[in-house]
Amino acid sequence: MLRASGLGLLGLGAASCASVTPAGFVGYRRPSRRLEPVDASWQRIIRTTVGLRPYRPSGFVVRPERLGAKLLIHNYGHGGSGMSLSWGTSQMAAEIALERPERRAAVIGCGVVGLTTTRQLQRRGFDVTVYAEHVPPNTTSNMSLASWTPTSGLVDRARRTATWDHQFRRAARISWTELQLLVGRGYGIGWMEGYSLRNSAPAEVAGDGNSLLPDELQMASTVLGPGEHPFPTAYAVMRPSMNIEPSVYLDRLVADVREAGAEIVIRRFDSRSDLAMLPESIVINCTGLGARTLLGDDEMTPLKGQLTILMPQAGVDYSTFGAASPVAGGFVHMSPRRDGIALGGTSVEGDWSLDPDPDATRRIVEAHIDLFSRMR
Ligand SMILES: Cc1cc2nc3c(=O)[nH]c(=O)nc-3n(C[C@H](O)[C@H](O)[C@H](O)COP(=O)(O)OP(=O)(O)OC[C@H]3O[C@@H](n4cnc5c(N)ncnc54)[C@H](O)[C@@H]3O)c2cc1C
Repeated sequence: MLRASGLGLLGLGAASCASVTPAGFVGYRRPSRRLEPVDASWQRIIRTTVGLRPYRPSGFVVRPERLGAKLLIHNYGHGGSGMSLSWGTSQMAAEIALERPERRAAVIGCGVVGLTTTRQLQRRGFDVTVYAEHVPPNTTSNMSLASWTPTSGLVDRARRTATWDHQFRRAARISWTELQLLVGRGYGIGWMEGYSLRNSAPAEVAGDGNSLLPDELQMASTVLGPGEHPFPTAYAVMRPSMNIEPSVYLDRLVADVREAGAEIVIRRFDSRSDLAMLPESIVINCTGLGARTLLGDDEMTPLKGQLTILMPQAGVDYSTFGAASPVAGGFVHMSPRRDGIALGGTSVEGDWSLDPDPDATRRIVEAHIDLFSRMR
């Protein structure tokens, strides 16, 4: 499966490096460049944030429901993938709304799902009012990492159905394109190199075995072996990664929906009958975890996640996943943003607490201090 490529023949290649695509290996060597180690220390911490990912084991819900004379459309339950998938599920929700003749809609929720739903409705000629208890920067979406992770904490494999898989793939394709088109336009979205750090051999990481994501949405990865990368692990698998800076992105979406005429009303709803009192005849429910109490969806459960943010550091322009070290004591990850270097690695099912867990903070920070102190 390994063969010399044109790049190799041009002198950019070395036999030991390999690019892994869903189709197999193509040998080549990417030009090496210096990676700036993160200055990780306890003194550089500026804050730790907590968010509750809206997890639903059967996967997100996009479907209509009759609410008296109204059409209630659900668009919630995106787990750890809402920043990635929202444009797609929101387009599907807007298409359901188009089946009615009215062009006035209420969107409940002002996180990433509510805001992208509003944009998708506005693009189709709807006059939208957004109702929400909390708005950015006080939504779960603001507490997100957020990278292109369309299958993270999203669905229990055993509960997937063919219909849901089809919805997912359509949502992923739509979102993949929408997010790419926002790169470089002031939305805080950009590409960077992501390195998965591990001690196991490249053959074991060929493909990610994830049949849920369409092949064309899986980026090829480059396997760097011992001596070919600066990390203290045997292998570093590089894959281009699309990253979103939540505070920039959400503020831009708020500005966009307002510019297109939406009013944002601060309001909490406690029941379906509260929704039934709204003046709009089409209501789109984008309440994330809030759908549990508002609509009685007992499947909705939090996956608690926390991020510790270090001072911003110029020159760090790559992300890391894992540390392959006993100090890490589990999965950890690092991602640089303009507001700081985000360190994370927690997902605790059923934990509703919004307080940072000091043990988790210690594990994540110590793992990164260890990782970057040993980086060459
Ligand atoms: C640590 C962490 C890391 C993450 N990393 C990633 C990542 O890398 N990639 C990725 O794609 N995703 C990631 N996520 C997941 C992502 O943040 C969520 O999937 C997404 O934010 C969900 O968006 P939402 O709009 O559904 O929910 P929210 O942002 O929670 O918005 C819900 C809205 O509904 C409103 N609402 C709720 N109930 C009511 C009510 N009863 N009445 C009125 N208003 C109500 C709220 O006030 C709010 O405005 C991460 C999450 C966390 C916590």
